[in-house]
Amino acid sequence: MRLLLIASLLAALPWAATAAPTWQTISSEPGKRIELDRTSLKRDGTFVQAQGRVVLEKELTDSKTGAPYRVIEAVTRYDCATRSANTIKRIFRKNENEIVREEDIKGADLPVRTGTLDDKVLREVCRPPKENQAELAKKANEAAGELKAANDALLKKEMAKAEKPPAVKTSETQDAGSIKEGAIPSIRPNLKAAMEGTKEPSHSPTPAPAPAPVPAPKAAAPKAATVIVHSTVQAPPPRPKKAAKSEGYMLELTHTETAVQQHAHIHWDYEGMGGPENWAKLDPKNKVCATGERQSPIDIKDGIKVDLEPIKFSYRPSTFRIIDNGHTVQVEVGENSISLTGKTYELIQFHFHRPSEEKVNGQRFDMVAHLVHKADDGQLAVVAVLLDRGTENAFIQTLWNNMPLEKNLPVAPPNAQIDLNNLLPASRNYYTYMGSLTTPPCSEGVLWLVMKQPAQVSPEQIAIFSRLYKNNARPIQPLGGRLIKEGR
Ligand SMILES: [Zn+2]
Repeated sequence: MRLLLIASLLAALPWAATAAPTWQTISSEPGKRIELDRTSLKRDGTFVQAQGRVVLEKELTDSKTGAPYRVIEAVTRYDCATRSANTIKRIFRKNENEIVREEDIKGADLPVRTGTLDDKVLREVCRPPKENQAELAKKANEAAGELKAANDALLKKEMAKAEKPPAVKTSETQDAGSIKEGAIPSIRPNLKAAMEGTKEPSHSPTPAPAPAPVPAPKAAAPKAATVIVHSTVQAPPPRPKKAAKSEGYMLELTHTETAVQQHAHIHWDYEGMGGPENWAKLDPKNKVCATGERQSPIDIKDGIKVDLEPIKFSYRPSTFRIIDNGHTVQVEVGENSISLTGKTYELIQFHFHRPSEEKVNGQRFDMVAHLVHKADDGQLAVVAVLLDRGTENAFIQTLWNNMPLEKNLPVAPPNAQIDLNNLLPASRNYYTYMGSLTTPPCSEGVLWLVMKQPAQVSPEQIAIFSRLYKNNARPIQPLGGRLIKEGR
């Protein structure tokens, strides 16, 4: 059975018919991991042909077949002299074993831009080999074993801290060029990257079956324990200078046309491909999420302490409509408004985040409620009520009692009422600054009114929200010289 599986796998990999790939992580970033099969490297002068793949955290839908895929394998020819890439073949896979679609590409050589996925692979494959390839392949196998152990440990750790909100992953800081001379390239960094970036079980190398003949016109192919190293010299294919579309980039998801199309299908989210760092790429309307200089949330500190005009809350009991919209739990109520500086803002909706999006003096709270108001002139004012772990909150309990069973299907209980005055803290003192919506399209010009005194919410009530949204907080945005006022 296992042999059959291996056989079918090998049949599916025509360019690697003699050895199962030994994948090594070379870069790990939010939503994806880039892996390279070092044993696939074929050098020819300044050219290196390499097999790489992108492993996505979340499945995407193949636009041609409609089938989901999570792995994109590619054979790409890199020119180390001119820093260009030409992808020859792509395979979309649902998982290790199931192929969704294969495509042969007749692309052109395209320049590799700094910081892209192709750039990371190029830097790996163009680094001059310090040891012979057999040694490297052997080390790669050992490293793969270490990786598996590391991944197993990581999995255990992940499961143990499953209750905590996931930390916002930062992109990798590994600089391929900074590895010391003589060091085994990538083994240490790979471990680190794997520890930081991967939650899936590792892809341990499949032992290669009986060695198949390896064409070796220049040198005999050295054999490592379980990996057959190719030293085939490939005749360079013609290199049309015509600037093709983005066909030539294989591993560069975020800049290709395919990537734009893929992004068009991705809904914004708090992690993975739809995560905050990609919001602006998902839709041109979200541009300001990346370019804006007055974004929210912020870390509220060093405000000027002044006498602030009290916010006049005109809240009253009313029935409500509650919806789980896929990003948060959101509530609409009857007529409610606030007044400030002679202007009236009508309440549109309120919703929750866990943990609190805003920090106060570097500290986040367990949750926050955002009460979104709008004035006649279109200006938005958001009242933020920080929620601290403590006693049960009756207002929130009424909402949770009526929590919709399904996403995007609102519930409007006929006999339940809420009064937002019961959510507000006793002290109405507040911080204020100008910011933005904290979700796409991240529109600016939003007046933020953050209540200084938190309200309380019980651990059980926090746990209920966590079942739906473990982490729906946008990362802190730069203050950029904005003024914060603090009521004294
Ligand atoms: Zn919000």
